[in-house]
Amino acid sequence: MNSARVEDTDECIRVHSDYWEIEHLKRAGGAWNSLVFKNGSQKNLLRGPVSSAIRFARTEENSADPLGYYAESNDSEARISVEHPASGTVAVVAEGTYRNVLGESVPIGFRRRTEYCGHGLIWTTLQIMSECGCPGAVEVRAFGVPLRSGLTDAYARFHPTQAGSADLLGGRTWLDLKQNTNPTPFLSRFTPLQISCFERGVEGLELFPGSELVQWDCGFKLDMGLGNFRIGHDAVGASIGLGPYCMGFRRMKTRVQGTTTLRLGIALNEVKPRSTVKKPLRHVFVTNPHTTDAQIEQLAAEGVEFICYRDDYRDGTEFWRNGAVAPYAADGMAALHALIESCHRCSIQIVPYVSTHELHPATHAYELHARDWMHTAARSLDVVHTWSGQGELGGLMCLRSGWLDYRKKTIDAILSNLPWDGLCLDWPSPMPCCHPGHAAGPFHSDVDELIDLLFYCKHRVGKEGALAFLASNESSILAANLADYILPRE
Ligand SMILES: [Zn+2]
Repeated sequence: MNSARVEDTDECIRVHSDYWEIEHLKRAGGAWNSLVFKNGSQKNLLRGPVSSAIRFARTEENSADPLGYYAESNDSEARISVEHPASGTVAVVAEGTYRNVLGESVPIGFRRRTEYCGHGLIWTTLQIMSECGCPGAVEVRAFGVPLRSGLTDAYARFHPTQAGSADLLGGRTWLDLKQNTNPTPFLSRFTPLQISCFERGVEGLELFPGSELVQWDCGFKLDMGLGNFRIGHDAVGASIGLGPYCMGFRRMKTRVQGTTTLRLGIALNEVKPRSTVKKPLRHVFVTNPHTTDAQIEQLAAEGVEFICYRDDYRDGTEFWRNGAVAPYAADGMAALHALIESCHRCSIQIVPYVSTHELHPATHAYELHARDWMHTAARSLDVVHTWSGQGELGGLMCLRSGWLDYRKKTIDAILSNLPWDGLCLDWPSPMPCCHPGHAAGPFHSDVDELIDLLFYCKHRVGKEGALAFLASNESSILAANLADYILPRE
């Protein structure tokens, strides 16, 4: 793992990895003020501090700041500390008070903990706290990111209420910032599941709320859809705003009371120096354990270096049911073992395909747990299945359930059973879900658990093993950071 390193200076806490350097500016509430990718543009990706802010209606009482914004980055005296929660990880904690540009405060405190977890993953958890309560807030922005000019592309994945289809999947858009003259190319009142901004081929970042969407959706009012989530873009640069409550224009107020916790994931490109970029890999998919030595030798002669063994459904014969550990009867398992040895004789790496979300109904685990683990698209719907040919690949499971632990254990058993060279996961995308047993609130996702699974797989295959993902047209900087190979689909 590429560990983060930390330096504490009079001005800032500087955290850096092999790929980027970040500064938490002490006089700006400990907010990020600089983010430079070492093998990227070498420019600061940020135009100013990355901060939360609370806005109050413009009244005579608080007219010192004409905009009425109180921001964490205006606190020049925040308490800042560094923690080392686990080997190789660093957390920077800033605690202070929301202040306006004149330094005047409101009775609302913040605590932001930013944890650097390796592989370009950062979790920032913001707590907005007011014991006595503070009325009159017309906007709560959890995260405002001013970005440099020159970014070319953005990507957004919508909230489940806006998903593309009734199974809650789909619902995403790519935005060409070069061609787009709209000053707000993305705008939603619902929490997006992901926003990414980048300069294509150079550098970028990705933001995604943690699995518990309820605080983002309903943290300041009971109803969903009262926020302001946007990507802005003009000559000065791009910007990202994540605001769980925004009725500023209508001066409709809410009371900030108690503690609201907003967790946000950030993935940063691990841009490699150009000299280390790998050449494309020659790969194929093999679907039958009875593939002969001669066929493998032929593939080797054609230059194939990598085989993904994927047999998750074939009509009219036995196949490897998703979620099962030992796919075949004794003769099939012997054939599969012989196939792996044949690949090794020909210097071809071979890895098993493993589904992130599908569990086949003809497994014991499905019989026992499917209704507890299932991806729930609506309370009135049963398990959603992925159909194939005359049968199916499996029912969709949510990782924010016992499915995560089961999936880890089965991956471990699969890799222990046979001398595979690593693992191929289907595209690692989080799923929104409304199963009431998985989380509070109308909707959640399984992004925390998905990342847990990805880090587990990376650790399990080890330095010698290969972790491959099947490609998708979705954006995932973290997946790109973790993958040894991203394989185009057949
Ligand atoms: Zn769920």
